[in-house]
Amino acid sequence: MDDPDAAWLTVDLNALAANLAHLKALSGEAEVAPVVKADAYGLGLEAVAGRLWAEGARSFFVARTAEGESLRRFLGEARQACIYVLDGCTSGAGPRLEAAGLTPVLNSLPQIEEWAAHSRGRRRRLGAALHIDTGLNRLGLRIEEARSLAQARDRLGDLDLELVISHLACADDPHSPMNARQAIAFEEAAAVFPGVRRSLANSAGVLLGAAFLHDLVRPGLALYGGGPTGRPDPELRAVATLDAPILQVRSVRPGESIGYGATCIVDSPLRAAVVALGYADGVLRAGSPRGYGWANGAACAFLGRISMDLIALDVTGCEATPGDRVELFGANILLDHAAAAAGTIAYELLTRVGSRVHRRYLGAGA
Ligand SMILES: *Cc1c(COP(=O)(O)O)cnc(C)c1O
Repeated sequence: MDDPDAAWLTVDLNALAANLAHLKALSGEAEVAPVVKADAYGLGLEAVAGRLWAEGARSFFVARTAEGESLRRFLGEARQACIYVLDGCTSGAGPRLEAAGLTPVLNSLPQIEEWAAHSRGRRRRLGAALHIDTGLNRLGLRIEEARSLAQARDRLGDLDLELVISHLACADDPHSPMNARQAIAFEEAAAVFPGVRRSLANSAGVLLGAAFLHDLVRPGLALYGGGPTGRPDPELRAVATLDAPILQVRSVRPGESIGYGATCIVDSPLRAAVVALGYADGVLRAGSPRGYGWANGAACAFLGRISMDLIALDVTGCEATPGDRVELFGANILLDHAAAAAGTIAYELLTRVGSRVHRRYLGAGA
């Protein structure tokens, strides 16, 4: 039974499936390989990956080795997904990666050396992906390192190079000249590994058009309903809804203040709903001044500071009573709007939802 006093993160798996179908339609021939790192952006790895598998996804990306191990354990022997680990082969990770059948996205020459040595030691031809940096300067070989590697392929030992990737820095801004620069750099870098599949696009990259699709795309956020350009995308459905119950509705008189620090001073009589959700649940405290929730058909502004367990909302204009649920994001307050009000991005709102919030699932696979 759902606990009516708890905050709930409701995940609509049918909406997730619809977003996958939309991304597939945009991706043409390219394989859509969902990114399910960070517990599928906080929505729950098992339910999300389980449904995506049922919808035909066969390759997945995670960040950490441990995430890959969890995904493999969940999918089991029968569902033979290809699981790429973006951290690559960190020092000593070889045995774990091999045991869980994970494919590291090798990010540096020492990582290549580590995974190739492991493969040699085991006398097994192990799979690998290669990350080439084209401008983000985060992970990946420099282009000149990739070139010299291509000329000395014995450094890859017996590794089976399955995929070459790079990652876009400014894909959320379709007008950024960085996108074309990276696309060209990636073409050149990937060309030194002929016959190897290529991947450049994240969610936003998929929207940039055919030059960015290559053989495989790696969307995360768009699957979970976030607009790739930081604004709601009408083609994507809201997947996640965060709501919590009102504990008390109180009348506040002019001259009184609300909340810690007495930062909010009331100038005309109002009704404040106190909601059972706070920064411990992932509502960003820094978002206090401009945030709002949805109560009984109306958007209601936050009043004063967000505390650990509670938020006050102005419900003067609506009929809110204790027990009513207030939506923080979902179908009424779109994730991207909630993120903008909190001064952050949809990714952070999703991944911050705390462990006190109950997850529940709608749709097939729930
Ligand atoms: C997180 C990540 C993605 C997914 O990005 P979205 O913007 O969520 O689609 C793709 N590729 C890499 C390398 C990533 O780190």
